[in-house]
Amino acid sequence: MGVINYMKYLTQILFLFIFVQLNAQTNKCSFATERIKYFSNKSDYSVFLSDNEKKLSSVAGNIELRDEITIPVVFHVFNRENADFKVKLPDIYEQLDILNKAFSAGNYDIKYVPDTFSGLVGNTGINFCIGKKVVSGKVIKGILFYTTDKKNFADEYLDEDNKRMKIKHNSFGGSDSWDTDKYINVWIGEMAYNNGTSTFPGIDADYRNEEGIVININNLQINSKNKKVIAHEMGHYFNLYHIWGNAPGCENDDEVDDTPLQDNYYTGCPVGDKFSCGSLDMYMNYMDYTDDDCSLMFTKGQAERIRASINIYRKTLIENNSLCDARVVTDLFEVIKLYQYNNNISLVKGFMTDDNIDVAIFNISGQKVYSGKIDKRETVKNIRHIFFNQGIYLVQLRLGNNYNTKKIIVF
Ligand SMILES: [Zn+2]
Repeated sequence: MGVINYMKYLTQILFLFIFVQLNAQTNKCSFATERIKYFSNKSDYSVFLSDNEKKLSSVAGNIELRDEITIPVVFHVFNRENADFKVKLPDIYEQLDILNKAFSAGNYDIKYVPDTFSGLVGNTGINFCIGKKVVSGKVIKGILFYTTDKKNFADEYLDEDNKRMKIKHNSFGGSDSWDTDKYINVWIGEMAYNNGTSTFPGIDADYRNEEGIVININNLQINSKNKKVIAHEMGHYFNLYHIWGNAPGCENDDEVDDTPLQDNYYTGCPVGDKFSCGSLDMYMNYMDYTDDDCSLMFTKGQAERIRASINIYRKTLIENNSLCDARVVTDLFEVIKLYQYNNNISLVKGFMTDDNIDVAIFNISGQKVYSGKIDKRETVKNIRHIFFNQGIYLVQLRLGNNYNTKKIIVF
């Protein structure tokens, strides 16, 4: 590695350290902080980064992007006992769906990518499924629910230096990973300041059983603007840096050719063109810090880097798609959430379906008092209570031949 590159990495580390201190409250993702913590006492960090780039570029261009691959994912969910919001099964399917849409450029809102960048949209060709494994002859599905009484459990560490997280260990009240060579582990728990974090390929050789991503449970709330953070963290897991290069300044790049240089991160949902470093900024990239409405795309270059990263560091993950739990939806209420507010019933499916879903609501005498549909492209259906008197009702959902009914009480 040349002296200049070496100095560049040292500068990055130093900047990052200061930067993180100043911006603790806006930290969407603690990936960078943790890398610093982990490597601040390791002299070979810059050597690792340089080798990493060499390895990636050696396979880049040879990666066949058209082959679809499927990777099993395990969700370890930690609801807090007294929390108002608790994650349920549909929230997990929604997260899986967001991942699959993001990694295949199949998200409905990808049409909002500006013309300047639409030609750069990348499809990684990766599918994610819910993993399964057989324990003592019994199939266990990779969605594991736990309850904790600890506030901000996903912020608790075994040691401050390496930022090893308790949530990843049975012995500390967490949940042990499933074999990280075969599954991607996703832990979901409460965090005070961050929306998520991820391990980076290759650097955690001592702690292979801790590889995976961690998501703040509050990202999954109904009105959250951070549901897509899971795509951002999965990007890190597959070797992507932040789009502005992890440190402010135009000299820091994300090592991807088709993402423009960007001075710093964006938050919220910017409107119109934004420029820095002499070019238009791609703030709608998943690897920026923008809200869901503005978080729309990976580039072709990022997709290629992800595939290269799998080839080098994560190859065993793609040899195991027999470990996928078949997604048979037997209960539509498993994928569609029903919320009741004072004056509203909301049905939220959070993703597109193959067909429209018919909605019917019956009163206790069996009379149909509401009928409508959730369009296949629609994600939220609000039904105002004004249609109903107090009482017990049955909400029926129908998709093709499959229908399910749930009882609700209107007060
Ligand atoms: Zn990040």
